[in-house]
Amino acid sequence: MTLEDLGYNIELENYQNENISDSFEIGRVISEHKERYVVKTVVNEFDAEIIGNLRFSALKRSDFPAVGDWVAISEYDENKVLIHSVFPRKTIIERQAVGKQGEKQIIAANIDYAFIVQAVDRDFNINRIERYLTICNTSKVKAIIILNKIDLINDAELSELISLVKIRVNQVPIIAISNESKKGIEELKEQMKKGKTYCLLGSSGVGKSSLLNSLAGRELMKTDSISSSTNKGQHITSHRELIVLENGGILIDNPGMREVGITDSTDGLEMTFITIVEISKDCKFKDCTHTTEIGCAVLAAVEDGEIDENSYENYLKMEREKEHFESTIAERRKKDKDFGKMVKHYKNSKTNKY
Ligand code: GDP
Ligand code: ZN
Repeated sequence: MTLEDLGYNIELENYQNENISDSFEIGRVISEHKERYVVKTVVNEFDAEIIGNLRFSALKRSDFPAVGDWVAISEYDENKVLIHSVFPRKTIIERQAVGKQGEKQIIAANIDYAFIVQAVDRDFNINRIERYLTICNTSKVKAIIILNKIDLINDAELSELISLVKIRVNQVPIIAISNESKKGIEELKEQMKKGKTYCLLGSSGVGKSSLLNSLAGRELMKTDSISSSTNKGQHITSHRELIVLENGGILIDNPGMREVGITDSTDGLEMTFITIVEISKDCKFKDCTHTTEIGCAVLAAVEDGEIDENSYENYLKMEREKEHFESTIAERRKKDKDFGKMVKHYKNSKTNKY
């Protein structure tokens, strides 16, 4: 087991050399639960907490470590470490914090690829693929579309579905698999790259757990002698949310990932709907909403079939959600600002008095 097996690379190494004292060990957060972490290093898996300093300087939730993060640690007791700092993140998958409009919560960090899993049965829905794709674009995570449960349809039906996806989604690899017949699983394993980190996105029931088992199964890499002797016969313990597969790929699957909502992210819209955005440059009005305007190039393109009608509707819907989300954030900021002014005013009036 080396750090590279966990995804360590030259960029991280450079950062370490320049910013991290030699007295610290380096590890990767493999699970998180209420500010208690498990950090994996080349030698062991440690229970970890963050040092007070890091806690006090944390301004927002995203300053705390997340699964997938690289951290500098020191051991203070047997199997126990303190997290001193979090390395800069290459990618972040986040979602709206529960009950807090406009606040985001990090689900996982440093993911390279997301498998957008979609079942080919009655739930098949390209709008949903576009939505998950938008999450990937926002997060700078590369997407791979997985069409699952192909044992339920014949080859002709599968080709039809693939061409439907290709009409609306460009330049994203599509891999068709079945966890039942195992068709496509080997191809998928071969496509995965050593030291790259993957996650699974998709609605409940599309087969994410089954795919995880197909990928990990009995082959789950025995990562080090200590954990394999203490967890004899155990493949995936419930607390381990980051696993190293035998093909060298690293898979993150945590409860938060399962809840990444398709409404959580809209920033990457422009990348998902490149064609629409390109065509919209020809609209007569700069602030065209592409709904009723005369001289709207998008409407014209929908009319003559250049833009898929469903794609167009999905785009408008996601645009509206984006605007709604942005205005909620703006409102929050304004409230915080007003509150800040009030505190300042209060402080000033106090100092004036005395
Ligand atoms: P998750 O909610 O995305 O984790 O989905 P699960 O992995 O729990 O799968 C949901 C259901 O779909 C289960 O009943 C699985 O047995 C079934 N399933 C998963 N993959 C396949 C497949 O390739 N073919 C068929 N026919 N069923 C599958
Ligand atoms: Zn327009």
